[in-house]
Amino acid sequence: MGWLDFSKKKQIEPEDKSVPLDVECPYCQVPLGKFPSRKGVCPHCQKTYWVRTDPFSRERLVLTEDGVRKNEEQQFRYQLISEFKRSLFNVIGEDEFEKLYQETKEAFVKKRGKAPLEGDLMWSISNKMILLSAKSRDWRAKTGMIYWAQSQFVYGEGKDYAYIREKDFELELKFLRETGTTDMVEILATPNSCPECQRFDGKKFTIEEALDQKILPHKKCTTEPNKAGVGWCRCLYVPSLDHLG
Ligand SMILES: [Zn+2]
Ligand SMILES: [Zn+2]
Repeated sequence: MGWLDFSKKKQIEPEDKSVPLDVECPYCQVPLGKFPSRKGVCPHCQKTYWVRTDPFSRERLVLTEDGVRKNEEQQFRYQLISEFKRSLFNVIGEDEFEKLYQETKEAFVKKRGKAPLEGDLMWSISNKMILLSAKSRDWRAKTGMIYWAQSQFVYGEGKDYAYIREKDFELELKFLRETGTTDMVEILATPNSCPECQRFDGKKFTIEEALDQKILPHKKCTTEPNKAGVGWCRCLYVPSLDHLG
């Protein structure tokens, strides 16, 4: 009996896990038979189901209308993580990134006993990259790029990224202070910046004031606001030329 059960089970095991052989209606759970290749109507409950792919596992899914909405959010998140990955990858190159990726993933699995979520993994890699960059010759440029990538990711997640960009601006202002050509900076907005950013365009501050007040990024920026209403401030500090000594 045991052996028969086993062989039976083996037979119904689908060959390719990404395309299950049979599936249930996502509304009423009545078997739909063969896995549908496209949108359809359940013969039992008459509701419309959709066929989508999970962007992370590449698994085919039969979904309710609500499920489709969640899948769209997952697609957005997948894009966001891919962009984050690409930005990090550009800082250190393919080989080094791949090495860091594998190392960090293995360390995660060892510590938690399961594979990390891709977003958590990328975040962890970016922090490691900041530490590693400190040892390189062009550390300031590299660290700035990583902070920028982290900020974009957090902004895309619909959160406030100001605390990360502030670190980037702090590095830059300290660098300007150390090179000693000027003690003043001017704020430069873009033509597409929001009214709050425009208000500051051309305003001058001492480097000390800019460091103390953490003027950039503008906390009230509304340029392309994310889910939390936080805009992506494109303003920059430039050395103020009238004060070149
Ligand atoms: Zn149904
Ligand atoms: Zn701004």
